[in-house]
Amino acid sequence: MKLPGLTDIHVHLREPGATHKEDFATGTAAALAGGVTTVLAMPNTQPPLVDRAAFERAKRVAEEKAYCDYGLYLGATLANAPAIQALAPQAAGLKLYLNATYGPLLLDDMSAWTTHLEHWPRSRPIVAHAEGKTVAALLFFAALYNRPVHICHVSRREEILLIKAAKEKGYPVTCEVTPHHLFLSTADIPALGAGRAEVRPRLASPEDVQALWKNLEVIDCFATDHAPHTLAEKDGENPPSGFPGLETALPLLLTAAHEGRLTVEDIVQRMHTNPRRIFGLPEQPETWVEVDVEDEYPVRASATHSKCRWTPFEGRRVRGRVARVVLRGREVYRAGRVLASPGFGKNIR
Ligand SMILES: [Zn+2]
Repeated sequence: MKLPGLTDIHVHLREPGATHKEDFATGTAAALAGGVTTVLAMPNTQPPLVDRAAFERAKRVAEEKAYCDYGLYLGATLANAPAIQALAPQAAGLKLYLNATYGPLLLDDMSAWTTHLEHWPRSRPIVAHAEGKTVAALLFFAALYNRPVHICHVSRREEILLIKAAKEKGYPVTCEVTPHHLFLSTADIPALGAGRAEVRPRLASPEDVQALWKNLEVIDCFATDHAPHTLAEKDGENPPSGFPGLETALPLLLTAAHEGRLTVEDIVQRMHTNPRRIFGLPEQPETWVEVDVEDEYPVRASATHSKCRWTPFEGRRVRGRVARVVLRGREVYRAGRVLASPGFGKNIR
C-alpha cells in the first residue's frame, strides 16, 4: 500500500544540549523509518530556542544533519514576545508551555499569554501544552482573540469533550493526540515500571483512552511527542518524562486500522492532510511511503534508528511495516536502511 509522506508536528530531537538522547540525524532517520517525511521540532532544547541566536544555531545544525524535511518551533517565555515576532516567518510555529515544564519556557503568568497572542502573527500557528483546566482557559483566550490555537497531546476525557464543545461553538481550535495516549493507559504502568511509564501528560485511565477513541472526529492530528531518553535515565533516579514514538506510530495505527478501529484514510487525514493545512506546510512533490500491510511482527527497540534504543511498546505485535520511503523523488529509506545523506532534509520554512 502506498501512503503520502507523513508529517509529525510534535517531536523532540534533543539537539542542542542532549545529543546523547537524540540528535537531528538520528531523530530524522527514525522519522523516515516511521514513514514520516516532515517533522516539526520542539524548542525545549539546551539552550531553548527562545531568541534569535539560539534559533539560528539550531537551524544551522539541522541544515547539516537532517535526513527528512523539518521545521523548528520557537518557544514563548514571559518576556520574549516582541523580540521573536520577526522570526515568525522562519518558525514552524510558537510553542506555549502552560503546564508542566521547567525553566524559562513555563508561562505561569496569564498576562504573558495575552502578549504572545497579540504579537505573534495570525498567519503562524500557536501550539500549546495545556492540561485540565488550562485547556478551558486557553479556549477562552482563543475565542476572545478569535485566533487559532492548537492544543498538544490531549489525553483525558474532560479535555476532548471540552474541545468538542468548543468546536461545535465555532471556536478556532485544533488538537492532536499521541499514539501512546491511544494505545497505553494507567493499566500498563505496572508492566512498564514507574520510571519508564513517566510521560507528560501522564498515561490516562482506560476510560480516558476510550473517550479519545470515541471522539476520533474531534482529533485533528496524530502526533508522536517523540521524546527520547536513554534507558539508564528512565531506570535511574528522577526518571525524565517522555517516550520515543516516531518509529512505532504508523505500525500501531495500521494495526488499529486492521482491527477496524479506524480507517487508513483516518490516519492519512491526521498525519498528512490536516497537519499540512493547519501549519501551512509546502507540498512535497514525488513523495510517498510504501507499507507492507500484511507484515506482522513484534516491536523491537533493537531494530529502531532512534538513539535512545528503547520503546514502551517492546514486544507488542503490530501489523504493517514501512518498506520504502521516497522523498522529493529520491529513495531515502528501504528495508530498514536510511539511504539519504545527512542534510538532504529541507527546512519547510
Ligand atoms: Zn512534547
